[in-house]
Amino acid sequence: MLPPTFEARLVKTRPLAPSVRELTFERVDGRPMAFEPGQWVNALLPVELDAAPGLNRSYSLASAPDGSPRFELAVTRVQAGPGSTWLHALEPGATLPFVGPQGFFTRPLASASPSLMIATGTGMTPMRSMMRAAVAAASQVPMWLVLGVRHEGDVIYGEELRELARAHPFVRFVPTLSQPGASWTGRKGYVQTHVQELWAELAAQGGAAPHAYVCGLERMVGSVRQLLRKDMGLPRQQVHTERYD
Ligand SMILES: Cc1cc2nc3c(=O)[nH]c(=O)nc-3n(C[C@H](O)[C@H](O)[C@H](O)COP(=O)(O)OP(=O)(O)OC[C@H]3O[C@@H](n4cnc5c(N)ncnc54)[C@H](O)[C@@H]3O)c2cc1C
Repeated sequence: MLPPTFEARLVKTRPLAPSVRELTFERVDGRPMAFEPGQWVNALLPVELDAAPGLNRSYSLASAPDGSPRFELAVTRVQAGPGSTWLHALEPGATLPFVGPQGFFTRPLASASPSLMIATGTGMTPMRSMMRAAVAAASQVPMWLVLGVRHEGDVIYGEELRELARAHPFVRFVPTLSQPGASWTGRKGYVQTHVQELWAELAAQGGAAPHAYVCGLERMVGSVRQLLRKDMGLPRQQVHTERYD
């Protein structure tokens, strides 16, 4: 069955990092925005490219479903990228058609295992959705997020995640910078550098076997998948991936 099409109005925006803009949309029909945390929507953009009349671009839902018609997206502005540039210039009040929700990169809470989440840039947005849903449902199953970006200013939702981690011991937030400034005292290097150590620590806590959730650009996702599956020998069903390109 095809996922449904719906219209949504942009109600507000805010910068999350120099190249990342959060867009909050509201369904025009007023119906609750129902989805599984981790899913994405297709935005149908009125941008003409190569004589084609419109552009389809997918975006993960960054918010958790809360029964309201609202939902949040976080869009990285890609250099010379027609879709993301257009969305960065969109003014509140504009409406857009969307198709979705869709996708299988999900973590059903009823059967959730301790999770190591590995993301770069806006690849962390499905994990933010999963974390907010888990907190709202008073889950206690560990969710650790390793977020890789270049500079400290590129960390998105950093304050919110640190706050969640302070308030909920099952949440852990581990940012790592590939180009840290002199004052950075946190982890350094690519996400790959930290996966084995964090996995061992999570597995040592006992309980069900951990699952890994990996999201971002193919280069990182492919390299982390190889690390988890080939080098660490994890079975396929414990490794969940979503690629943005
Ligand atoms: C399932 C799915 C979910 C996605 N969710 C998001 C999301 O939540 N936020 C988001 O910003 N993008 C997301 N994307 C990527 C998004 O659909 C577009 O590809 C992106 O906005 C670039 O489109 P463009 O037209 O500006 O540039 P294009 O000319 O189409 O893309 C140029 C290149 O930009 C690079 N690129 C794509 N996405 C990113 C990114 N996020 N960060 C850095 N480089 C990128 C890729 O290498 C791509 O080949 C998602 C993609 C998929 C398939």
